Amino acid sequence: MTFLAEVGVGGHSGCGGFGLDSRLWGLLLDQALSAKVVLSNGTLVTASSSENSDLFWAIRGAAPSFGIVTEYRYKTYPAPPSNIIFTYSYTVSPTTASSIFSAYQDFAKASAPPTLGLQASIGTPKSGNKVSIALTGVFYGSKADFNTAINPLLAKVPQPQSTNIKTYGWLDSLQVLGGQGLNTTIIPDGSDTFFAKSLMVPQETPMTQASIKSFFDYIGNQGASSDTSWFVLADLFGGQGSAVSAVPKDATAYAQRNGLINFQMYASSSNNAPPFPSDGLAFVNNMFTSITSKMPSDWKYGAYACYTDPTLSASEWQKRYYGDHYARLVSIHQKYAPNSVFRYPQAIGS
Ligand SMILES: Cc1cc2nc3c(=O)[nH]c(=O)nc-3n(C[C@H](O)[C@H](O)[C@H](O)COP(=O)(O)OP(=O)(O)OC[C@H]3O[C@@H](n4cnc5c(N)ncnc54)[C@H](O)[C@@H]3O)c2cc1C
Repeated sequence: MTFLAEVGVGGHSGCGGFGLDSRLWGLLLDQALSAKVVLSNGTLVTASSSENSDLFWAIRGAAPSFGIVTEYRYKTYPAPPSNIIFTYSYTVSPTTASSIFSAYQDFAKASAPPTLGLQASIGTPKSGNKVSIALTGVFYGSKADFNTAINPLLAKVPQPQSTNIKTYGWLDSLQVLGGQGLNTTIIPDGSDTFFAKSLMVPQETPMTQASIKSFFDYIGNQGASSDTSWFVLADLFGGQGSAVSAVPKDATAYAQRNGLINFQMYASSSNNAPPFPSDGLAFVNNMFTSITSKMPSDWKYGAYACYTDPTLSASEWQKRYYGDHYARLVSIHQKYAPNSVFRYPQAIGS
């Protein structure tokens, strides 16, 4: 499990900003107290709950369409003294992976405390009809409390094939999660040629057994032979006491407060350079529909605007990213950015 230190605060805070500590504290955009924003007419304004509050609402979820944020002021928190990074790993049949994921989803919904940041990291070994699945994350608290928190999940899944659990101080935990470290001035620049999709599973209608099975059967059958280099992350956003879900739905432009688990399906060309393999789009799209095709046709899933999917039609990205906030975003956009200076294919009002 690694998180990249190179992700910039500008985009990250503008569309969401999820980390393993988000169930404890909220998204990065939830920490914003105020921002300085350069508008399309060249003026610099402050946005906060008391100044240009409509703009402040809009930039917490759709900032790139509204201006250039040159400064954020954020709430801060005392660093937790004990941060337990854990991974339980399996390489199993698609059927067993389905039952592990099903236990993960049940635990996510009913039992996971907000001090637990958790994701399922999914892939395949190079050959065979197998699935690798790792339940991994950070617990912000003591070892004793971690055991109490995680045991209801462990009781429902098979014995892991490997386990790694270590306690860190705050900064060390960030270094470990950052993989290549936190000093972005010495991390070599990288680039990727990729296609990604997201799927936000709503809390009130989680995935059915049929859709979980269909997804893992697809992964088991197609994953090893794909000529892309791919991964799937299923991040726990919601569940009991999650600070992401605790924010009232209309408090910010971010529209996925009812999201339980956010899937990121991500495939790169094998050497990360162009061209993207011609069958790569179908590989990811079929992975996505392996889930949605087994859910009711009116399933109200969402998508995470930070994980842009360029293949969504206008009506789809408007609905899936922004839901019923889209109309309000368009009207605030007409006030602050009427001349389409901040335009891109999925910009508000485009
Ligand atoms: C490898 C990788 C891992 C990721 N992991 C996570 C994760 O764990 N959690 C998560 O929530 N997201 C994650 N993301 C998604 C990430 O949050 C978004 O891609 C985000 O938009 C990145 O912001 P950026 O400023 O680095 O990107 P950029 O590509 O520079 O910007 C993205 C958009 O934001 C706009 N923008 C940038 N800065 C500003 C600013 N100051 N004011 C206004 N608009 C601005 C840009 O114009 C562009 O439209 C990941 C992305 C990558 C590539």
